[in-house]
Amino acid sequence: MSIPIYTYDAIIVGAGLAGCAAARELQNAGKKVAVITKLHPLRSHSGAAQGGINAAFSDQDSVELHEFDTVKGSDYLADQDAVEFMCQKAPETIRWAERMGAAFSRTPDGKIAQRPFGGQSSPRACFAKDRTGLTLLQTIYEQAHRVGVKFWDEWYAADIIYKDGKVSGVVAFNIRDMQTVIFNAKSVMFATGGYARAYKINSNAHANTGDGLSIVARHGLPLEDMEFVQFHPSGLSGNGVLISEAARGEGGRLFNSLGERFMEKYAPNAMELASRDVVSRAILNEIREGRGVGPRKDAVYIDVTHLGKELIMEKLPELRDLAITFLGLDMIKEPILISATAHYSMGGIPVNIDGQVRKNNSEFVEGFYAAGECSCVSVHGANRLGANSVLEALLFGRFVGKSMVRDIDSIELRPATQEDANTALAEMDFILKNNGDETITGLREELQQCMTANAGAFRTKETLEIAIAKVKELRARFQNIRIKDKSTVFNTELQEAIEFGHMIDYSAFIVESAIARNESRGAHYREDFETRDDENFLKHTMAYMDTDGNIKLDYMDVVLGKHELKARNY
Ligand SMILES: Cc1cc2nc3c(=O)[nH]c(=O)nc-3n(C[C@H](O)[C@H](O)[C@H](O)COP(=O)(O)OP(=O)(O)OC[C@H]3O[C@@H](n4cnc5c(N)ncnc54)[C@H](O)[C@@H]3O)c2cc1C
Repeated sequence: MSIPIYTYDAIIVGAGLAGCAAARELQNAGKKVAVITKLHPLRSHSGAAQGGINAAFSDQDSVELHEFDTVKGSDYLADQDAVEFMCQKAPETIRWAERMGAAFSRTPDGKIAQRPFGGQSSPRACFAKDRTGLTLLQTIYEQAHRVGVKFWDEWYAADIIYKDGKVSGVVAFNIRDMQTVIFNAKSVMFATGGYARAYKINSNAHANTGDGLSIVARHGLPLEDMEFVQFHPSGLSGNGVLISEAARGEGGRLFNSLGERFMEKYAPNAMELASRDVVSRAILNEIREGRGVGPRKDAVYIDVTHLGKELIMEKLPELRDLAITFLGLDMIKEPILISATAHYSMGGIPVNIDGQVRKNNSEFVEGFYAAGECSCVSVHGANRLGANSVLEALLFGRFVGKSMVRDIDSIELRPATQEDANTALAEMDFILKNNGDETITGLREELQQCMTANAGAFRTKETLEIAIAKVKELRARFQNIRIKDKSTVFNTELQEAIEFGHMIDYSAFIVESAIARNESRGAHYREDFETRDDENFLKHTMAYMDTDGNIKLDYMDVVLGKHELKARNY
């Protein structure tokens, strides 16, 4: 049976903020666009963003300060040209989102309200209560629909068509009935989001399995800076569900079992609002040294009771609900239990400011773009500041959409053939028919436990060697899986197996990149190399995977600029 081939000008994979913003730009410029998304767009993880979106426009703030904070937060690994572009365009992005219809919270005199976030010199995070991401996503999705973008909801992108340095489409299947389709296009953009699901305790949606990264890597294309995984200081104890930095931004305080406000020891100036890597390690250190709280002594308290009921109900209502639902604790009346949770991934598919995907340090793939959390334009370097990521997704999504409009007429459509679907079909066939004795849930549990224990907020050569061996072992055992559901109707077990394959791939990048970086920088903290080593490691990791899953490492220069290297203290 032949596979249908549909032709568009542009295909976008992912319908979070980055994908929806790009799609709207393209369609609005008269290009025919399809968005493929495995979730309903409004279920994309962008909708879970609580705290805010940064832009420097108040009288006390400046674009230059935003740049400085971002570069310092990144531990100087961010590319300063990309940081400048983002910070300069941030105020305009907020105005644009407002014009599109997003309603931001306001001050009593009618201005857009801004709250303090970690690592920032001035209150800079614009917000819509504590549901900023949802407000923005609803708005941009609606606007993409209005101009006529075609959304393929609950379609799973399984492969790209990549030949001779050029991408000319996507192979996808309908999750409802497994029907496979080839989407042929002049250009393709990946906006597939984050991938912290490789960790046991994480704040991410179940869908954040890094499919986009692994699909790209399987074609021999590089992934950048994969060792930098951000641990957010405040995940609900036990399950990692996020309590936004807004809780600390509004004035929340952290306490250990002795009742000490322990951040005094670790960041005497910024206290709870030091950058995330610093606060997360402080929390984990308190727990390791026996000053944890809760039934398992594996948490610390965050206390917002002094803020009062009115402020909590006005600015943090969703956070309060989450703590009541998951822990049975009401933050109006009592402190709640939190600990660090795997949250955000600084690394990803390497791109330039126009979103063009890198083939290597000097060449680009024709017709292929990426934006949002799956990409690495390197505005976050080794550590992202809170409220810079919704900004990145929305801003680069929109501007990469504009670059695609600019480039598209000079790209020739390469007609797709039936053979282009072969790899994706073979993968599905293997999973459906293989008759081994490993289960996906069992293997996934082992991967997540191992990554949290050995490639987490603290790492050493020894723990990373354990993780590397485990990832290799799981890759081999994956060949021996069996799924129970052999049907073609909403076969979520098949989908989870494909996703697990992706998780193994990008976990290999994380651990292999981490073991080679013999320094501590931002979120990458090596207990055996505790200081930053600019002489040897002020460079981006560029990693490549061969067909057996082996990783080869290379490095790429950081784009430096006016913000000079300094020690990073808070
Ligand atoms: C709980 C939480 C709170 C956060 N709060 C903030 C905050 O306050 N401020 C801030 O700046 N950042 C925050 N972040 C980070 C920020 O929300 C994300 O980095 C950003 O929204 C990512 O947007 P995106 O468009 O790149 O991806 P997403 O919104 O994650 O969208 C990914 C899309 O890709 C699709 N997709 C993935 N794989 C496939 C596939 N194989 N086939 C088809 N479709 C696929 C999905 O269906 C989805 O539509 C938060 C993150 C979390 C987890």
